Amino acid sequence: MLHDHQATSTPCPCGSGKNYNQCCEPAIEGIKPASTAELLMRSRYTAFAIGRSDYLLKTTHPDHRQELSIELLDEQISMTTWSELEILETIQGSESDSTGVVSFIASFSSDEGEAQLHETSRFIRENEHWLYVDGEIKLVQ
Ligand SMILES: [Zn+2]
Repeated sequence: MLHDHQATSTPCPCGSGKNYNQCCEPAIEGIKPASTAELLMRSRYTAFAIGRSDYLLKTTHPDHRQELSIELLDEQISMTTWSELEILETIQGSESDSTGVVSFIASFSSDEGEAQLHETSRFIRENEHWLYVDGEIKLVQ
């Protein structure tokens, strides 16, 4: 089930403690790009949680989109329900950096049950926009 109409004044799915309109919404709606690698990572998690495949594609570096498509993302989104994000570590990725690394654990459930995605993601900043490059992914079930 997709949640296209995330209410703007409810807690942001990324778990920051802020409301969606004060957190990931400006980035996802293209109003204000994420200023740090961690904020981009959070907004991509939220995009997965609320079904914004357009934003996920847009924030993946063009050189690394490979087989990625809206259809594939929608399929992944429809199979998973994201429940929690925990940021473990951020290396660089500040407003004055051009690269950054974010390690996190994202918890989700699917037909196969509950699972956790442990990922160390690499980000690059181009033209004031942070982009997802790739990640080392470990699935824990
Ligand atoms: Zn958020």
